[in-house]
Amino acid sequence: MKLVSAKEMLDDAVKGHYAVGHFNLNNMESVRAFLLAAQEVKSPIILGVSGGTAKYMGGYRTITDMVQGFINFLDITIPVSLHVDHGKYAEALDAIENGFSSVMFDGSSLPIEENIEKTKEVVRLAHAKGISVEAEVGGIGGEEDGRSFRGECADPKQCKMIADLGIDFLAAGIGNIHGKYPADWEGLHFDVLEAIKKEIGDLPLVLHGGSMIPDDQIKKAIRNGVAKINVNTECQIAFTEATRKYFEENRDKESKGFTPRAVLAPGLEATKAMCIKKMTLFGSIGKA
Ligand SMILES: [Zn+2]
Repeated sequence: MKLVSAKEMLDDAVKGHYAVGHFNLNNMESVRAFLLAAQEVKSPIILGVSGGTAKYMGGYRTITDMVQGFINFLDITIPVSLHVDHGKYAEALDAIENGFSSVMFDGSSLPIEENIEKTKEVVRLAHAKGISVEAEVGGIGGEEDGRSFRGECADPKQCKMIADLGIDFLAAGIGNIHGKYPADWEGLHFDVLEAIKKEIGDLPLVLHGGSMIPDDQIKKAIRNGVAKINVNTECQIAFTEATRKYFEENRDKESKGFTPRAVLAPGLEATKAMCIKKMTLFGSIGKA
């Protein structure tokens, strides 16, 4: 199975009232964990790659080849999209040239006119190769490009302006935040989500910062047009907690317990389990 654009899987998700999970790669173990999880429960999946991960894992070409190699080696038959997460303009272009099947161009920190111009250019270059495009309007709370802020809401009129550029799905802030949510978080703003949905029709919406949002709010967001949900923090925590437990139980001191593959195995299993838990919540199980 070759990597696929995310457009078709997300259009199907909108029609079927479920969401496809976007899970961020952090290392080789996460590639294995997510592919095995998606295959086990027959769910489509989007693998997200941030600029930091791209640098850590040897650049876009290395990651494309690694993911495609694992798909072949593990006999993965479900649709897998390899997607740039919060790409700067140069990163989006680099990934388009190096085998990614989907890109997010995040021009949300730019003035709206410049965001529009650059989004248009990314759409032109990506669509010429059958690559899907996500754009972002307004900032999403938490840490983004070193800027730190609280759950902002996108302007529905600006969402419409960006949607009209021919993008395939749109990320818009509705009070969601990257990373851990503060105790006094107000929750998702469903009035804003409804107003955006009214402007953009059936264009799939993306919910960033999908970790730790209460399940009922996730389900309500999906009912209101969210078709892609980004999860990173919860999978990272699952990995780290399983790894800590391994050392706390002194399993590294047992026989070959010190080998790196043995040390990383519980984290890989925990990541896989978290991925399946999220796919169950998003309703994507059995949709591939
Ligand atoms: Zn994000």
